[in-house]
Amino acid sequence: MKKKQGKVESSIFTRAVHGGEDHFKYADAITTPIVQTSTFVFKNSKEIKQYTSKKLTRYEYGRYGNPTQRAAEKKLAELEGAQDCLLLDCGMSAVTSTMLAVLEKGDHVVITDDAYGQTLNFCGIHLPRFGINSTVVKMGDYGQMKKALRKNTKIVFSESPTNPYLNVIDLEAMQDIRKRFRGLMIIDSTFATPFNQRPLEWGMDLVIHSTTKYLGGHNDMLGGAVLGSTELVDRVREYQRVTGSILDPHCCYLLMRGAKTFALRVDYQNRSAQAVAEFLESHPKIRKVFYPGLPSHAHHEIAKAQMKGYGGVVSFWVDGSLKQVNKFLDSLQSLHIGPTLGGVESLITHPATVTYYRNTRKERYALGITDQLIRLALGIEDPADIMADLDQALGKMS
Ligand SMILES: *Cc1c(COP(=O)(O)O)cnc(C)c1O
Repeated sequence: MKKKQGKVESSIFTRAVHGGEDHFKYADAITTPIVQTSTFVFKNSKEIKQYTSKKLTRYEYGRYGNPTQRAAEKKLAELEGAQDCLLLDCGMSAVTSTMLAVLEKGDHVVITDDAYGQTLNFCGIHLPRFGINSTVVKMGDYGQMKKALRKNTKIVFSESPTNPYLNVIDLEAMQDIRKRFRGLMIIDSTFATPFNQRPLEWGMDLVIHSTTKYLGGHNDMLGGAVLGSTELVDRVREYQRVTGSILDPHCCYLLMRGAKTFALRVDYQNRSAQAVAEFLESHPKIRKVFYPGLPSHAHHEIAKAQMKGYGGVVSFWVDGSLKQVNKFLDSLQSLHIGPTLGGVESLITHPATVTYYRNTRKERYALGITDQLIRLALGIEDPADIMADLDQALGKMS
């Protein structure tokens, strides 16, 4: 939104609707158009000269940027309170391009143990091919994180809340880590969204989102974003000029459209998840519930102090055998079984058989992925209907 002099800062609900939109009202349309083009033509040689001598800012070729992409980037930057934002074609592109744009041979990365599986794979399998090693530390153990720092540590990477146990980062402890090394603190804030937490305001350097989740919000697109200072985001943008992985204009439009209602949805999902978590915690067929909004969660106090809401994902252990867990899943009537989260449709997943099917049972259990673990990502249905479905399916278990 245009900041007029003396105008008060608008709320995140308002920024979600108007952020980034104001310069593209072609034909006075209220929405930002999809500029579906691969290239942008020059009027004449004078314009080429003005552009190449940087006297004129304009678009050149689709891989280097597009007006719909730029508008979506501006919206997300306003939501996150970032100087700049770069969009990429998925969350993993945002993670890998950011790392590859800033890391050099011989650098070192510190990453928390419950980060997104492919992010851990990237650090554990691919970065070493380029002479970059990483140390995996236990999420929540800031003493271990401190000890893992080396002279050549370039990145400390964490997520929050994490998957599937919804561990929550202590951003105060991270500020202390920040002072102890010269590299970058990068937070994958996909589960929190800028509605619940804005790590840049806590002195973190870059925030990453899989916009596939809450920001897109409709289970109909993949996208990724990196946000922070113009200087850092530009480094990733320069890298993207070479490697591609751009978000196409149509997806940028879907992202903008989704993001307009993101604050409404996340606000609602926070409350639905809290209600469902409390319901499950008192259910006789549930052994344990993991939700940062419950006082029983290990990081409840941190979340309460540092987050606006506790997010839309609830994990729990069903009290039963694998066969009984399958019976529960097969008895669900309205909840769909599938990975991902943050869309309007609620999704339930059984990490042991959906995400970790390649791992041995021993490996899975070492990661806490038990046969009894279920992850529920709330959509925007009435939570009463979700609880009724869970209740009837739990009743069919034995
Ligand atoms: C989904 C997800 C990713 C990867 O995003 P894609 O859009 O699927 O590439 C990265 N980090 C977190 C925390 C995620 O949930």
